[in-house]
Amino acid sequence: MYQNWLGVVVFWLLLHIGWVTYVGTDTVIGQVVNSLFTIGGVSVSLYLIWQARRRQMRRPFTSRLFLLLLFANTMLGLGECGQLLYFLQGRTRTEPFDWIDLIFSLQILIYIIAFGYFLRNRRQEVNLRVFLFDEFIILVVAGSLSWHYLVTPYLEGNALLTIETLLWLRYPIGDLLLLGGMIVLFFGLMKRGNGSSLLLILLAFHFQLLADLLYVVLERFDYPFPSSWLDPLWLATVLIVGLAAYRFDAEESLVPLDVTRRWIDVLRLITPYLFLLILFVTMARQTISWNGLTIGLMIAIPLLISRQIRIVVDNQRLRENLEAKVEERTEALATAMEEMRHMAYHDALTGLPNRYLFARLFQDALYRAEASEGQVGLFFIDIDHFKEINDTYGHRVGDQLIVDVTTRLQKKLPPNTVISRQGGDEFVVLLFDVEQEAEVVQCGEHLVSLFKKPFHHGIIPLPVTASIGGAIYPAHAASRSDLIEQADLAMYEAKRRGKNQFCLHDPAITNT
Ligand code: GH3
Ligand code: MG
Repeated sequence: MYQNWLGVVVFWLLLHIGWVTYVGTDTVIGQVVNSLFTIGGVSVSLYLIWQARRRQMRRPFTSRLFLLLLFANTMLGLGECGQLLYFLQGRTRTEPFDWIDLIFSLQILIYIIAFGYFLRNRRQEVNLRVFLFDEFIILVVAGSLSWHYLVTPYLEGNALLTIETLLWLRYPIGDLLLLGGMIVLFFGLMKRGNGSSLLLILLAFHFQLLADLLYVVLERFDYPFPSSWLDPLWLATVLIVGLAAYRFDAEESLVPLDVTRRWIDVLRLITPYLFLLILFVTMARQTISWNGLTIGLMIAIPLLISRQIRIVVDNQRLRENLEAKVEERTEALATAMEEMRHMAYHDALTGLPNRYLFARLFQDALYRAEASEGQVGLFFIDIDHFKEINDTYGHRVGDQLIVDVTTRLQKKLPPNTVISRQGGDEFVVLLFDVEQEAEVVQCGEHLVSLFKKPFHHGIIPLPVTASIGGAIYPAHAASRSDLIEQADLAMYEAKRRGKNQFCLHDPAITNT
């Protein structure tokens, strides 16, 4: 869908540019259609933002941000409607600042508010102090250049403190603020996600800055073109802001390429120096008379700047290496911690939950059973004549047998069970979601049957059986330890009755 809208936007803008270039705005029809292009384009952008806002309804911050963008874009449409109305009524705008100017200015003001809102919300993610200096350098250079080239010539004919001059200053000042926001956005947040939407926003505001700048210059020089020539540029801002909102996804996926991040860092590093250089070259061109000293200065200052960049790059590389090392160590530590945690809760030989973890799982199962008035079955399994295996084949074969028994239990038991090794040749099995006693008996018999097929040591069959005792919560015991004890007793009863069998808890056993 986004691709389609991108196509619509590009097509619309090209048509608009074509119209102002080839038809112009000298005729009535030319002027009216030009206005309609703007009003139609604004409507498209409003639709896009509205759609985007509906998708983000559950995120109040984003939804409010989109509402601000919506208001800002509406201002361009409203202003254009006003202008069209004046035109159709045959009125000319003579006042230096009328309500139409107010509406157009509100657009920039709301963009700046949206920027402020966005940056305030993301202030934890942006370490503003890091770019404070970079930002100031860029703004001071941009400010002084625009002061020199735009404001001063304008002021030549006007006093500084007239209302008219102050109102006129809204262009350079508003755009400077916009530029400030853009710098933080680009250097601070691009890396964090939604990179393509943010890039679109930046592109949009570049159009705005360019259009404003051209407008001020055109006005000053009484350029032979009418300013409606700039309308497609202003419209481009609004449309691209709409596209950016439309593209903004809920997942905030990161900029995928690491290269992009590196480039942003490099750009961040060079930009303030680049601005300084521009200021310096401009100043040199205008005021310095060329002699040995100035030529020396012209060489020395770029050298100084490049040296400074070198130092910063070296520092950055050092810091990156350090960060990479710290990250590596942190990862190793996290893995070790994870291993330790696993070791603390699992049996080293079989990987099954050990007594401690089992006790917790067991307690949880009892709570759940209590809450749902359900039952829990517990089985105590002890392998018969295990010592003989050890004595005949050695401890290692005994160990392997314990592992093989574990694997078989894991494979054959239903999912509503938890197996744990208690130590030696003893296992316990928890059966939850029990509704009737018969299910426990059935599971106990099933456990016995799992030992019917012999295990193997190589090709040597190892016929092994097990004695299994079972008890049910809450019928046979009210607490965890009691239930284990009852199952243990039942297991001994199974041994006593000749091994290789299942015995359910019998109150008579407890009494004997
Ligand atoms: P019963 O039929 O009465 O259960 O007798 P049994 O031979 O199985 O002996 P019992 O269950 O009383 O004791 C288990 C034996 O398992 C004791 C010990 O020698 C052995 N054992 C304990 N832990 C390990 C272990 O980690 N690996 C191996 N291979 N043997 C172990
Ligand atoms: Mg045993």
